[in-house]
Amino acid sequence: METQAAYWAEPLIWEFEARIVQKTSLGNGQFELILERSYFYPTGGGQPHDTGILGEARVVDVFRNEDGMIVHRVEGDVSGPLVTARIDGSRRLGHMQHHSAQHIVSRALEQRLGLETLSAKISADSPSTIDVPDVELSGADMGQVEGLVNQLVFENRPIKTYFITVDQLDTVPLRRPPKVSGQIRVVEVAEFDYSACGGTHCLTTGMIGLIKIVKTERKNKKLRLHFVAGQQALTFFQHDHEVVTGLCHHLSTRPGELVRVVSRQTEQLAAAQREIISLRTDLLSFETQQLSTQAEPGGSVRLATKLYPNRTIGELRELAKQLQTQDNLVAVLAGYDGQKLTIVTSCAVGSAINARELLDHCLAGIGGRGSGDDRLAQGGGNATPEQVEQLLARARTFSGS
Ligand SMILES: [Zn+2]
Repeated sequence: METQAAYWAEPLIWEFEARIVQKTSLGNGQFELILERSYFYPTGGGQPHDTGILGEARVVDVFRNEDGMIVHRVEGDVSGPLVTARIDGSRRLGHMQHHSAQHIVSRALEQRLGLETLSAKISADSPSTIDVPDVELSGADMGQVEGLVNQLVFENRPIKTYFITVDQLDTVPLRRPPKVSGQIRVVEVAEFDYSACGGTHCLTTGMIGLIKIVKTERKNKKLRLHFVAGQQALTFFQHDHEVVTGLCHHLSTRPGELVRVVSRQTEQLAAAQREIISLRTDLLSFETQQLSTQAEPGGSVRLATKLYPNRTIGELRELAKQLQTQDNLVAVLAGYDGQKLTIVTSCAVGSAINARELLDHCLAGIGGRGSGDDRLAQGGGNATPEQVEQLLARARTFSGS
């Protein structure tokens, strides 16, 4: 004997006196309860289960077992046999709005675009989805479907539910053949859609509220449409409106101008970045010439040493590479933030000095570490300002090993 599914006839009853007919402890503080009749919707038909409370216990799962009984899994014990049950009405209403919307959107997709619904998933927390065969849909196609489904909402048509037998199947123009045998429950959106469905639905289309398709994506060789309805459509609009208002305030513009303003700023940013790269190249070239000119004779080579406050190792390497092009030039470039010293050494092609040996010679004074080859090397360590001065002086005394 199946549990009497009271939510079919009265989907708006969210509080009721429940008679417990079976209670099983799961041993972890959870219990499974079977009621004489239940308004709690069990997971099925693409619609998630209801949540709520039974007595003092929180209902965390509702499902039909193999015998057709509706099982309520609760956290905490319930003393019966009679308890007050309360369904989370906001969650249930969201499911009803989305489930009803799904029937209408599926029918509209079929009627306007010839697209059959392959599967659907109802959710009141995130957009619900409908999968259809993979096709290209234009904005105009979407507009047609949204226009039609919301027209149905505005007309506030009745949504009726009733049972038929297999023998009566040819009397109802069902959108899809039923998956169940025996008694078949029909959900009819007056003169628009007829579906075999065991879910909970709104009583009229007006109760669904606004329906909006918010995203399409390709998924498993199908096209997936994401839509919101009712309360969730309001939440969605509130969030997007807040984002747009924030951006408009930030950019001192109006919503209608937002795309143009952001596009222009993106272009300006790209142009500024190109200019920065060009200026840095010029600066690098200028610095290279200046260091080369100021280089002092040191044995068989010309030596350039320079200390920069807060210059990154990347910037020092870039400059050092440029200096390798200068005739017979050996460079020791240092960046120092008052505590940490970074050093890059470079030697022009053909010079008698080895960059790695020069680096090791410099770092020996502070016990620093480095790496590199005979042309370019880098390293560093902690040093006092006096040690930095001494280190650069040591560099000037290096004549190769
Ligand atoms: Zn349904």
